[in-house]
Amino acid sequence: MSIFQSHAENNVSSYYQASTNKTLAFPVLEGEHVADICIVGAGYTGLSSALHLVEKGYSVIVVEAETVAFGASGRNGGHVGIGQRQDQYYLEDKFGHEIASTLWSMGLEAVDTVKGLIERHRIKCDLKHGGVHFAHKAKYCVDMEEEVAFLHDRYGYDQLEYIPKNRLSEVIGSEAYHGAVLDTASKHIHPLNFALGLAEAAAKAGVQIYENSRVTSYAGSPVVIKTSQGRVTATELILACNGYIERLEPKINGYIMPINNFVLATEPLSDEQAREIIPMDTAMADSRFVINYWKLSGDNRLVFGGGENYRRGFPLDIKRFVQRYMLEVYPQLTNTRIDHGWGGTLAITLNRLPHFGRLQENIWYMQGYSGHGVPTATFAGKLVAEAISGKLERFDLISGLPTTKFPGGTLLRWPGMVAGMLYYALRDRF
Ligand SMILES: Cc1cc2nc3c(=O)[nH]c(=O)nc-3n(C[C@H](O)[C@H](O)[C@H](O)COP(=O)(O)OP(=O)(O)OC[C@H]3O[C@@H](n4cnc5c(N)ncnc54)[C@H](O)[C@@H]3O)c2cc1C
Repeated sequence: MSIFQSHAENNVSSYYQASTNKTLAFPVLEGEHVADICIVGAGYTGLSSALHLVEKGYSVIVVEAETVAFGASGRNGGHVGIGQRQDQYYLEDKFGHEIASTLWSMGLEAVDTVKGLIERHRIKCDLKHGGVHFAHKAKYCVDMEEEVAFLHDRYGYDQLEYIPKNRLSEVIGSEAYHGAVLDTASKHIHPLNFALGLAEAAAKAGVQIYENSRVTSYAGSPVVIKTSQGRVTATELILACNGYIERLEPKINGYIMPINNFVLATEPLSDEQAREIIPMDTAMADSRFVINYWKLSGDNRLVFGGGENYRRGFPLDIKRFVQRYMLEVYPQLTNTRIDHGWGGTLAITLNRLPHFGRLQENIWYMQGYSGHGVPTATFAGKLVAEAISGKLERFDLISGLPTTKFPGGTLLRWPGMVAGMLYYALRDRF
């Protein structure tokens, strides 16, 4: 029995759940099943893997402990940002220009993969274009402007524009920031409707999805995957559990740290109010260590993410917890009603690079997207499908990136990490 509050108890109703455009229900796994591939977890990683694999002709079974997109994929900010979670300076410094350049291209391809899936499967998920990144301290503006030039000169990327303080009203109705970068290639979506669309497309293509079926163990080759009521025997297994993996696989759990992050949705705003606070209807995020991120939903609500914690339980009043971050950016919304507040759990790695690999020849895992998982987890599915069908290069490039376990193992990693995270969060504020 877990000594922590379970994730199911943290299942606070979100704006996304209240605005889904389809209801899907899949059976519980019972009895004996056989497939080429078994995937544990029905978030973007699992669903995108399933879809890409079934399209290559494999038989695929997805086994989900709760319901489709119960995890971060049904709860996130919906920002589909370019690049990797680490900037190109870091990647060049650590791995040299060639690898950094490949990672940059993969980051762009990841955004295109999300867009491509939405278009190909006609997924209705409020896809909108453009993202703005704000400097919350004046000293970051020089770096931002330089990065725009760097990405243009070295990578030929011409979708960025630096917006100085005196032009900020073009992109935001707030005095909270000092400068910004507008990226016309980033996007934002309704994340749960995207995940449900992926699940529906996968099911239509022949993927068998099972819900309320927690995998408790697996072993062997072919791999036998067990839940309390059923078993799947598969040639290949993909672990796609990310921040919700808990104790299923201690060998990879130690490389990630689960973090809870929180989001609110206001009442619908008038068109005038919406254009005043986000004039270009873009995704917005700032330079804080604990990032504030926000956007307008399809029905003009401000969906604002801010604040996180590093234990199992969520704050009792999530709406108020996030509201204070929102009001620092938009004090004019003091009297705006907050209709929804919810949280989710994501997984970060120590160096903020994704953690891919294999536990044995036929057991694959992808996790640790460090807050950049909407594009990267979706893209992970494309890469693992490539790898399983024999083209290993791109999967191997990511799995070859250095990774370090969190010091202290799965339980003792907490105190050191929490102290570190709180230190940086405090530095943001002063
Ligand atoms: C609040 C929040 C905001 C975020 N905002 C953004 C954003 O704006 N942009 C961005 O790029 N990223 C964002 N992220 C990160 C992004 O959502 C994740 O990286 C991404 O959804 C991970 O997808 P996944 O499929 O790997 O994991 P998840 O979506 O978490 O899915 C894992 C699934 O595995 C299941 N599972 C676990 N164990 C078992 C088991 N034993 N048996 C069966 N099933 C199991 C879980 O129930 C869960 O459904 C955010 C995350 C959070 C929490």
